[in-house]
Amino acid sequence: MNSKLAIARAYIAARFPRPLPETVMAGPVCDEAEMAANFGQYNALGVGLEEARRLAREELETGISPRAGYSFGLSTGTTGEPGVFITTQAERDRWLGTILGKFLAPGQLLTLNAALLLKHNSRLYEASRFVHFFGLTQTAAHWAPRLCDLAPNVLIGPPSALLALAETAAYQRRPFQPHTLLSAAEPLFPQDRERLRRVFGTSPVNLYQAKEGFLAAGCRHGGLHWNGDLVRLEGMRFKSRPDRAVPVITDAARTSQRFERYRMDDVLVLGEACPCQTPLRKFTAVEGRLQDILLDHSGGMYHPLFPLDINEALRTLRDYTLVQHDAGHFTLETVATPPAGVLQELNKALRNPARIDLAPLRGEAPGTKRRRFQRLFDPRNEIIREEMLLPPEPL
Ligand SMILES: [Zn+2]
Repeated sequence: MNSKLAIARAYIAARFPRPLPETVMAGPVCDEAEMAANFGQYNALGVGLEEARRLAREELETGISPRAGYSFGLSTGTTGEPGVFITTQAERDRWLGTILGKFLAPGQLLTLNAALLLKHNSRLYEASRFVHFFGLTQTAAHWAPRLCDLAPNVLIGPPSALLALAETAAYQRRPFQPHTLLSAAEPLFPQDRERLRRVFGTSPVNLYQAKEGFLAAGCRHGGLHWNGDLVRLEGMRFKSRPDRAVPVITDAARTSQRFERYRMDDVLVLGEACPCQTPLRKFTAVEGRLQDILLDHSGGMYHPLFPLDINEALRTLRDYTLVQHDAGHFTLETVATPPAGVLQELNKALRNPARIDLAPLRGEAPGTKRRRFQRLFDPRNEIIREEMLLPPEPL
């Protein structure tokens, strides 16, 4: 099919989404470790993960795909090596049409001038001449002047990069206000949402995109709508907190990569935060990575501590990072010494741990994914997955 036609078709489908028919899902659940170990079995080309990563780097450098018909892209890894995704032209067309359809009305398409702040470029993101790419491996001071020249009406980036932009001299001299501000690649905390709304004059809306695909779109009311017209969603709820679930996705439309009951390493906050009339499944937030859910150890058991709950105690701070070194041992990094009241609240939220050290907030290398919550230990090998989660169920 002609690319423009495919994009238009996906656009219209996304404007009027129809949830996929319900089916009972069976078969084994595949997780990230399984897919990484046997990557070749999960893609149409049969290439292993290392090879796919090499091909993605080659494509990034040369701008030409080493395998005709397929494009290899790198995704921002939270830790360690970047993830890889493989797409066909048809998939890229569908992706672009869907994104446009979920966020932009037809009138806004005619004047589209979008800027995308991302760590890695990919042909997925060069799908249109109306979309300009800014690489986050350089500091905001470096790319902000060019971005302010462009004054995009659609701005897409991680909240940490959007906040960094707001603080540059270039932006303060020549501020612009996009009509659409999309927050992607990192969790959006309530205080950052508010800060971004004040700076850019519009509320940021979530775009939940992972190397597994474009999964959910935020709405103006701050809620999120699962792309249930494209990707089937099951969830593994936390036994102790049924409002939190790890997504298990099935994407039947992908031909380049197979995602069948694929368990992601993210945590969703369930609940209906918005009054929208969408037929799609609504939820409240993407809370972050499973590996960064903190743990309380008491009564001989581990219990999850969720970032958004703990953030409530810390949300008045200008910025912070909370690191868990071990059960009962945390470091709170802040810009200025936190008030005693905040520490009391934090102590309570963490269930009175043995030790909370204070430290100045460390700067991160440009392009690093901002992790406000970092758990540096994983007791007894993947304890969260094995002991804290219920089996998958349709959400
Ligand atoms: Zn909504």
